[in-house]
Amino acid sequence: MNEKHLLMIPGPTPVPERVLQAMAKHPIGHRSKGFTEIQADVNAALKWLHQTEQCDVLSLTGSGTAAMEAGIINFLSKGDRVLCGCNGKFGDRWAEVSEAYGLNVERITAEWGKPLDVSAFQAALEADTEKQIKAVIFTHSETSTGVLNDLAGINAAVKAHGEALIVVDAVTSLGACSVPVDELGLDVVASGSQKGYMMPPGMGFVSVSPKAWAAYENANLPRYFLDLGKYRKAAAKNSTPFTPAVNLTFALQDALKMMQAEGLEGIFARHERLKTATRDAMKAIGLNLLGADDVASPAVTAVLPAQVGAEDIRGSMRKHFEIALAGGQDHLKGKLFRIGHLGFVCERDTLTVVSSLEATLQMLGVEGVTPGAGVAAAAAVFAG
Ligand SMILES: *Cc1c(COP(=O)(O)O)cnc(C)c1O
Repeated sequence: MNEKHLLMIPGPTPVPERVLQAMAKHPIGHRSKGFTEIQADVNAALKWLHQTEQCDVLSLTGSGTAAMEAGIINFLSKGDRVLCGCNGKFGDRWAEVSEAYGLNVERITAEWGKPLDVSAFQAALEADTEKQIKAVIFTHSETSTGVLNDLAGINAAVKAHGEALIVVDAVTSLGACSVPVDELGLDVVASGSQKGYMMPPGMGFVSVSPKAWAAYENANLPRYFLDLGKYRKAAAKNSTPFTPAVNLTFALQDALKMMQAEGLEGIFARHERLKTATRDAMKAIGLNLLGADDVASPAVTAVLPAQVGAEDIRGSMRKHFEIALAGGQDHLKGKLFRIGHLGFVCERDTLTVVSSLEATLQMLGVEGVTPGAGVAAAAAVFAG
């Protein structure tokens, strides 16, 4: 059988049938009245998802990295001093994008699997009495390690500084746990369609605060396709500056409707349950986790198998059960596998992954695994 693929990676994530169906329509003109109505609906729902009334949430055609790049080039200038939080692949990407555009990047690093240290940001920001730091840039949920960074803590340090913008990659936290844009005063928040949005890849989203728009006026980096001023102007008329991904916008409208029906609290609680069940199951099976429980991402769990290779496990899960798990990235390649529990994922999917993993370990001859122990641990979370 090869039509029962189960996608349990932290992006692309599974897509509901209803959202796929929404895409499978003939495109319509992007300047038509019909499309303008869809765009109006989508713009309002995006604000709901970002918990904002003050910010613009703009849609781009491109992957999450396009949203990240837009978040840099619209608000900063060549030579600007910025702090980048680096504790994984995506934190590193922020630093790389910033350097590609000639920013003066100071990395605040933490070991992969550990959260960023809030006091390191505090110290650097407090020492900056001349107010030269223009932005603090980091990833909320670090997908490469399954670690959730302290958004509120780092934000408090940025607010105490008063000058710097806070620029956040929320690609695997938005739609999984709370990213309260207005409450925290987040200036720039980037996300992408193939993660918590339950959509195929192809769209990126950026939320922009009034303070970031003020910085936009003086920012001098080159920009054209990703010039967010153009998107803002068009969005005011429920339009887009260029031809958008029309069919993905159909999908977005339906996906956001599904999210609104579940409600933010419901969505966050489901991700919390799936995260806890996955982690408890791995521990019951005897597998080590990268990252501590109190900093665990709601989107993805990174597992470090000791007795058998991570790639053997992934290969066997794919071969016998048609379940896709993610591997390790960069220096963690081959050392870990990652289980996604982001977006359109439910309790049944988690039980399926856990039970299939137990069977896989048995097939690979791993000793000391009590069959059913992981399932029992996950079920206990769902029962409790
Ligand atoms: C997936 C992801 C991105 C975006 O990657 P693209 O491949 O460009 O969509 C950015 N940040 C994080 C944390 C991610 O998980």
